[in-house]
Formats: sequence, structure tokens, C-alpha cells
Amino acid sequence: MPEDTPPIGPDWSAIATELAPVEVLDDPVTVKKRSRDFFWYSPILNGDLRRSFGDLVARPKTREELAHCLATAYANDVPVTLRGGGTGNYGQAVPLQGGLIIETTAMNRILEIGEGFVRVEAGALMADINDALIPEGWEMAMFPSTQDIATIGGFVAGGSAGIGSVANGPLREKGNIIQLKALSMEAEPAEHVFDAEEALRIHHAWGLNGAITEVTLRTVPTRDWVGCMAGFESYRDAYAAGYALASARDGEIARKLCSVVDARIADYFPRLEDHVPKGQHLLVTLVPREHLDALHALVAGHDGTLHLSMGENERRAAKLPHVFEFAYNHTTLQVLKSDRSATYQQIGVPDPGDADAVAAVHAALGDDVWPHHEFTRGGGQIYCADLPIIWFKGAERLAEINATYEAHGFIIYDAHVNVIEGNHMQPDYRHLAWKKRLDPKGLLNPGKSLEWEKVRHLSAEEIEALEPENTSA
Ligand SMILES: Cc1cc2nc3c(=O)[nH]c(=O)nc-3n(C[C@H](O)[C@H](O)[C@H](O)COP(=O)(O)OP(=O)(O)OC[C@H]3O[C@@H](n4cnc5c(N)ncnc54)[C@H](O)[C@@H]3O)c2cc1C
Repeated sequence: MPEDTPPIGPDWSAIATELAPVEVLDDPVTVKKRSRDFFWYSPILNGDLRRSFGDLVARPKTREELAHCLATAYANDVPVTLRGGGTGNYGQAVPLQGGLIIETTAMNRILEIGEGFVRVEAGALMADINDALIPEGWEMAMFPSTQDIATIGGFVAGGSAGIGSVANGPLREKGNIIQLKALSMEAEPAEHVFDAEEALRIHHAWGLNGAITEVTLRTVPTRDWVGCMAGFESYRDAYAAGYALASARDGEIARKLCSVVDARIADYFPRLEDHVPKGQHLLVTLVPREHLDALHALVAGHDGTLHLSMGENERRAAKLPHVFEFAYNHTTLQVLKSDRSATYQQIGVPDPGDADAVAAVHAALGDDVWPHHEFTRGGGQIYCADLPIIWFKGAERLAEINATYEAHGFIIYDAHVNVIEGNHMQPDYRHLAWKKRLDPKGLLNPGKSLEWEKVRHLSAEEIEALEPENTSA
């Protein structure tokens, strides 16, 4: 190459210098590791994403450093992928077009704990937030089962519900997100404040429309929670007990987790061997100590047996994981630890109270689909999602499984796609209008929104006007 030929693409060593004093990680192995999340749960996404890598990682410690990272990327026209703990399941934090990965985990201060709220920096780990809240008499209204390694910014940008949602609703429920602050991706990044329902403009936008710097969330009074597992001979009984528990009045049995797990899946939980007999379909829950008797009665009324009930101190002494590490997407992880040919799907149950319909769809599905249900509440209603283990036999069989669910009236929120509109979600024009305002060059997480490519030439107001039910949020 002649000496005066300009280098092809961005000059990453110059960008690394420009980023000073921000910590940068440029060792290729580290950059590759920080380019991955838990997309490998899906063999389809694994094929699509495993060779997508960023070019450089920046690890800002303050919002000023984060603003400097965004301004530097903007000046150099390079894509930016925000990253918290990298626990998302759909490659949400995978840089599809290379570029700068900004990892927020050093922006982790807990700024304020007050009556019913906590204000934190976006990179704070949720386990640390709960650890800070509990001695003050509070806890997060909900958190994902990945609380030990996932950040609050990543949860708000990529997650939806978790432990606590069967009592307090999903993240998007009114009052759960009190305020979000986000920086724009411009020559001089500006911080925007989104209060109450305005936060839905940024919530679950996959880091496409701003860099969240600070989160204020609702907290609830903490209780002496006891982790419980009950066993049942039939899945139908376990499911019916789960529905009854999810529907119980808070004064009778409060619960912050209500999961039902097929016995074949539970047999992949070796840590439980000394506590729960094999071959039992499980109801996994957390109830306050004063409601244990009522739970006993509910379980017995559905022909089940309460095998495990442990408060936090006993659990630590027994060196057992939290019961929620056998729930939500940790259930899938427990199976994947032994056998990588498993995968999963996300399915909405149309009528959570109809155990017969759940039994009927699973009878139609066959032995390669093992049920696992999570109950939640929202707007006073009970919701249920099936997150089954699926023994993967190829994309064609997966499509057949999806079609069987749909033929029975169930809704597929496809876990095997990597675009924000893919999980049975309609385009969110409020998200995209704010992307236009906060990321005019379209450099944040490029490739993750199909709809953005269709509307990016419009003004923010024109994009917003496309929202079918144009709400004030
Ligand atoms: C075993 C397992 C269990 C899980 N259980 C649950 C569960 O119970 N409930 C649930 O909802 N999810 C669950 N998930 C998914 C995931 O853990 C959660 O969504 C989690 O909160 C993501 O946090 P994170 O810090 O790892 O985010 P990341 O994976 O790092 O990022 C997620 C998305 O947020 C964006 N992002 C990150 N930080 C910022 C920021 N500061 N500003 C703007 N955008 C940002 C990223 O670009 C990406 O698009 C689970 C995943 C696994 C692997």
C-alpha cells in the first residue's frame, strides 16, 4: 500500500487517545467478550450474531465521561452500543455494525434512598441496589433473576418484568419508573429528563434513543421473604396452584414470585437434590413468613406438598442459590448448563385461569416442549407467560411449535429475533421520534430497528404522528 493511502475505516487508536481520560479496553479478547450477551440461548441468533464484534470498549465512571464518549463517537461517525451487564437474551447489546461499546458498570453510585423510591446511576447492579435498600426497610418493586450481574440501566432499556411483578406489575406499570435521565448523541450531548409515564419514551428502547444516565424507581417495604418450592404429581395441579397463588388476596398470601416448572426441567436442578424429590412438577415462590401457613393450605388444596421453605439466613447457611435462580430465564439457564441443545420461547397465555387450555396446547405440542410458566400482574389483571424448554431440532420445527401455540390462541413473542419490532411488538414511534431528537445521525445500536430505516428521513414530529394511539407519554 502506498504510504499516503488513508487508512480504511475509523482510526481506532486515535479514537482511543481522544477518549482520554476515560478508561478504554482494546485487548481483542476483551472486546470480543464485551460484544456478546446471552443471544446464544437461541441457536438461530447464535448463528446470526456470534461473529458480530465491536472495535473498542470505553468504561466511563461519570456522566461527564459518558458524554465525552458519546461526543467522541459522534465526531468520528462511529456506531455506539450501550452495555450494562450483557445479560440480554436477543443480542440487544451486540454491536451489529462494529464501533464503540460503552460499558456503564463503573457508573454505579446509589444516589438517594427515600420514602418509596431509589435514585441510582444507570450502571448500578440490581443486587447492590437491593443490598442498599433492605437495611433501610425497602426493596426494589421488581428486578430480574440476573440481579447479581445486570445493571438497572440495562433492565430499564432491555427488560420488562421480574421478581416482584406478580405483586407490583411490570416495569411499564404506572408508578414503577419514576424518572429516567438520558444523554443525547450529539456534538455536545445534552441530558434530558423523562418523568413518570414520559419514561416510556426511553423504557425498553434497547439503547436506540439515548444513553440512560440515571434511574429513579419505585421501591416497596421489604418483608421477611421465604423462598418456597412445592411439588405436584401433575403439571395441571401445579399450574392451577400457581394461578390460585397469583390470584390470592395480598392480605392472605402476598407473593413476589409465582413460577411453575415441569418435572423434566426440575430434574436439571442438581443443587436442589437434597431438598426437593425428583419427578415433581414445581411451584416456585417467595412469600412473607407470616403467610407460610396459608401457602401450606393452598398447596395441600391442590394435592401438592411444600418441600422447601427457607428464609434468607437459612438459604445462605445452606449455600443454596435464591429460589428465583430456578425461575424466569434462569430456568432455561439451568438446563443449558447441562445440554446446549435446549432453547426456549416466549409465549403469552390468552386466559391464565384456563388450566385446561394450557394442558391442551402442551398435549398437542409433543415431548420436545416442556412447560414453564411465570405469573405476573398488571393493571389489576393476572398475566401468564409460558417460557418452555424446547429441544431444538431446527428452524422448521420451531416454526411448527410456534404455529401450534398460535392455533390454540397463544401469542408468540419470538425470542429468536434481533430487532426491536420482532418480538410481536408494533413499531414504537415515540421511541423513534426520540431517537430522531437524541440521536440524529442514527449511531446508537444501528441495525436493531427495521422501522427506523423507514422513518429516519422524517422529522421527529412526523415520526411521532405515526403512533396509532398518540398518547401524551
Ligand atoms: C438467566 C437470565 C435471566 C433473565 N431474567 C430476566 C427477568 O427475570 N426479567 C427480565 O426482564 N429480563 C430477564 N433477563 C434478560 C436480562 O437479564 C435483563 O433484561 C437485564 O436486566 C438486562 O440488564 P443488563 O445490564 O445485562 O443489560 P444489557 O444486556 O447490557 O443491555 C440490554 C439492552 O439495554 C441497552 N442498555 C444498557 N445500558 C443502557 C444505558 N445506560 N442506556 C441505554 N441503553 C442501555 C443495551 O444497549 C441493550 O440494548 C434474563 C436474562 C438471563 C440471561
